[in-house]
Amino acid sequence: MEIQGKSVFGGIAIGPLSVYAKADNVVKRTKIQDPEAEIERFQKAKDKAKEQLQELHDKALKEVGEANAEIFEVHQMMLEDGDYQDSIRNIITNQMVNAEYAVATTGDNFSQMFAAMDDDYMRARSADIKDISNRVVSILQGADNGGIRSDKPVILLAEDLAPSETVQLDKSLILSFVTRGGSTNSHTAILARTMGIPSLIGVDYQDDIDGHTGIVDGYKGILIVDPDEETLAAYQKKQDEDNEKKRLLQELKGKDNVTLDGKKIKLYANIGGVGDVPDVLQNDAGGIGLFRSEFLYLGCDDYPSEDQQFQAYKTVAETMAGKQVIIRTLDIGADKQVDYFHLDKEDNPAMGYRAIRICLDRPEIFKTQLRAIFRASYYGNIGIMYPMIISVNEVKQIKKIVADVKKELDDQGIPYGDVEQGVMIETPAAVMISEELAKEVDFFSIGTNDLTQYTLACDRQNAKLEKIADTHHPAVLREIQMTIENGHKGGAWVGICGELGADTSLTETFLRMGVDELSVSPSRILSVREAIRKVDLSK
Ligand code: PEP
Ligand code: MG
Repeated sequence: MEIQGKSVFGGIAIGPLSVYAKADNVVKRTKIQDPEAEIERFQKAKDKAKEQLQELHDKALKEVGEANAEIFEVHQMMLEDGDYQDSIRNIITNQMVNAEYAVATTGDNFSQMFAAMDDDYMRARSADIKDISNRVVSILQGADNGGIRSDKPVILLAEDLAPSETVQLDKSLILSFVTRGGSTNSHTAILARTMGIPSLIGVDYQDDIDGHTGIVDGYKGILIVDPDEETLAAYQKKQDEDNEKKRLLQELKGKDNVTLDGKKIKLYANIGGVGDVPDVLQNDAGGIGLFRSEFLYLGCDDYPSEDQQFQAYKTVAETMAGKQVIIRTLDIGADKQVDYFHLDKEDNPAMGYRAIRICLDRPEIFKTQLRAIFRASYYGNIGIMYPMIISVNEVKQIKKIVADVKKELDDQGIPYGDVEQGVMIETPAAVMISEELAKEVDFFSIGTNDLTQYTLACDRQNAKLEKIADTHHPAVLREIQMTIENGHKGGAWVGICGELGADTSLTETFLRMGVDELSVSPSRILSVREAIRKVDLSK
């Protein structure tokens, strides 16, 4: 069976199909016959939860330091608590009910008990008890590995994935993403490109293909279910040829991003977190042009502390060893929702309370992030850019806050480096006032994903608009041209960090417009370098 979709990243994937297990918040109470077997299920899930917590502890220790890793040790100890386990066993045996229900009920009861205590420390444990119970319930429901019901790599099928879901996924288990919904610029698509794996959107599959063998053809945009032997062999051959092409691209490592007539540009990478840095180095990017810092916030249950952020930024800056790392300040809201921000539900979130609007409205959150970034700037070459700008006044407000942060650090004797500051040009308003904006900043980075949605009035999350949201629309290309010209007039360098920057059919166009930098998914670096090296601007 062959199902047509739309490709968001080329390549071939072959493997078992697995339907994403959405975290089910509703825990059903079902009657069981064999309480011993149910207790055994709980024991296994608890052991698996402890393993996951140990892995999280080790990862956090490396990325954000001991103080922040400690919580995972505390969670492991709580799972072994005798009273907690007795309560679960008693509920299973006395009520003859399923383990999920017993764990969730115990979690609720204990958490209420802790919340009612006088001691501050014990009260704070209330959320932890809920957290560990949710983890065990997810494992029991088969939604462990972040929603992948397998311990072996799979082609993951989903309706669509929210950024808060993608951060939980165990990436080593994903051969390819296939979604029913989604759009070319949705975050699942961006993640697929970062990981460099073939992926499709708009594939109308039935859930009963779960467990069958599948082939994703990221060139033709098709999913093949239960291929016959001949098809399988043909695709295995194609996959080998692809690997050979990738190997040849590796020969471009260490070479300049230079046109035939000698124009050099910067070719940087987009990342979502510390975990993407090895891909950046492996693909030989000249720096990081977009560090989507909100993924740090998406991966937490509460606001990440200044130190937690500092460790992450410092690690990236140090690992990049002097190469520029541009951190985009918090771009939360719209499709990137985090519970603890308590944002109101909006009818029109893409045009709502998001990104810099929240930061300027809640300066305590913004200042914490800025302090962390400036402190980390001492350890490498850091730049900062601000998302969703629509006015010069916003930039002036930002500069005032930045000046306050620097003064505070000076007063405390905390060192920081020279930090280039820029704005993202991702609203038509920013394009129209780009001449004025350029006088205020060091650089522009054009966010074509949002710029396209706002210019064409096409919600980037809406799969139905895929056909009309033309990424090569002349309106968008003219806006890019205008931004580059105005940026240069005002003395700012100009890059593109939206997905369009990696579109090699436009590389020559961008170079002729005078772009100074392209920032693309790590997996696209070498193909874009290849495209740059074929252009002759003298002709
Ligand atoms: C963009 O809008 O083009 C961009 C790079 O930012 P994001 O995709 O994170 O909104
Ligand atoms: Mg954007």
